[in-house]
Amino acid sequence: SSSGGAEKKVKVGIDTTYPPFEFEDGGDYVGIDIELIKAIAEDQDFEIEFKPMDFKGIIPALTAGQLDVAIAGMSITDARKKEVDFSEPYFEAGLSLVVNKDNSEITGPEDLKGKMIAVKKGTTGADMAAELAEEHGTEVRLFDDSPAMFQEVSNGNADVLIEDYPVIAYAISQNTNLKLKIVGDRLNGDFYGIAVEKGKNADLLKKINEGLNNLRDNGKYDEIVNKYLGE
Ligand code: GLN
Repeated sequence: SSSGGAEKKVKVGIDTTYPPFEFEDGGDYVGIDIELIKAIAEDQDFEIEFKPMDFKGIIPALTAGQLDVAIAGMSITDARKKEVDFSEPYFEAGLSLVVNKDNSEITGPEDLKGKMIAVKKGTTGADMAAELAEEHGTEVRLFDDSPAMFQEVSNGNADVLIEDYPVIAYAISQNTNLKLKIVGDRLNGDFYGIAVEKGKNADLLKKINEGLNNLRDNGKYDEIVNKYLGE
């Protein structure tokens, strides 16, 4: 840099209880999001430092200027576009309804009348639950992280949860003691984006999009995704 000072590290907000996108393994942050942002930073020659937090705190931290970037399995939504600027979409997700393995009663949103639904604060799943509550008189219980929400339904303390399809499919495949199953088709479709503070980070956003494109072109993007999700 021409300023002569040490290059300022880009602060990256992450939700570290969200495998396969971001989680801790032996004291290190790992996962698709973690490896992607590291590879983007390397490709575009900037330094990053991770700031782990509950998902609900990430957008407020970005708008308060405490974070420069967020990569957190964060879905691009019109509402969020008013608060943050998003990169190009980098992963297709969408929400699934999930029940206890032993539950054969709930096969779709129409069976949710009077049921207890578990969702994570600040997520698109929580927004969907609020809509379902209005439409079907479902009750909503809010959690700070996904693993606690999974336990609630696995234990039979709540009837149903809503989670991003790739996340819940991965959790079920990895944890044989989670008594959960996905019901029906996805409730919606969406894409993950990398967020930056709105209106103030055009240069950084440009680098992120360029880095993402380079990783797609050079095969690194596929390599990272396949490492966690297989071919
Ligand atoms: N994709 C969902 C959202 O954007 C959930 C993200 C998460 O729980 N980390 O709200």
